[in-house]
Amino acid sequence: MGESSQAAINEKTEQIRLEQIEKRFGEQTVLKNLSLTIEKGEFIAIVGKSGSGKSTLLRLAAGLDEPTTGQITYNGIPLKESDMNAKMMYQDSRLLPWKTVIDNVGLGLKRGWKKKAEQTLDHVGLLPFKNEWPSNLSGGQQQRVALARALMYNPTLLLLDEPLSALDALTRMEMQNLIEKLWLEQGFTALLVTHDVREAIKLGDRIILIEDGKITLDVQNTAKRPRAFSDTKLTLLEKNI
Ligand code: ADP
Ligand code: MG
Repeated sequence: MGESSQAAINEKTEQIRLEQIEKRFGEQTVLKNLSLTIEKGEFIAIVGKSGSGKSTLLRLAAGLDEPTTGQITYNGIPLKESDMNAKMMYQDSRLLPWKTVIDNVGLGLKRGWKKKAEQTLDHVGLLPFKNEWPSNLSGGQQQRVALARALMYNPTLLLLDEPLSALDALTRMEMQNLIEKLWLEQGFTALLVTHDVREAIKLGDRIILIEDGKITLDVQNTAKRPRAFSDTKLTLLEKNI
């Protein structure tokens, strides 16, 4: 095996660092002296009560908003100057109802995206639905389309703000498996906000609890590690032997 692939397996690589972040909206301080380092390829599950600041944290990490004080870097470079490629997924799919599934997936992209859109729809199991209107799909299928749309950009960071919380239990389980599969295959870093602790334990390498704008718990999910290792890293190992 080459040295570089060995390093890829063993080394933690810092991707995003939030340092002493404060976020205020008027009089209200929503994030309070929050520091967090996210490693490349990590799957972090974020839990916490409504209003504790989870979505605000995701928006800052995605570069959609800026902290009031503190700094955020991506691969060591200030976020704004970096080439970070982040995509968000929300509780609602935010598909355009007047565009077909495939046109939603290719939205905002320049020419030549059709083939990739078909492949991506295939990855989420929806290729046969490519010419449907979003309103003809179930909630879970619409979230699959939203996921496909995000993946079209080959994001290095995927931010998932309660994307499964409106789905029924069985569909949620299927979507959890799909997200995990795509994460294992594609290697993006994932930040998932969820109210479902079982979902956090199933998907997160690391589980973070936010209370009143502060991280009050940050634990490695040892229960998950061996599976992630056996699936992805083992494949990587096998490829390089
Ligand atoms: P969570 O996602 O954990 O439910 P949020 O990050 O959405 O919490 O919100 C945390 C607090 O910040 C809430 O009190 C919310 O009202 C407030 N907040 C979030 N975004 C804004 C905004 N753009 N303007 C004013 N207040 C906001
Ligand atoms: Mg929220």
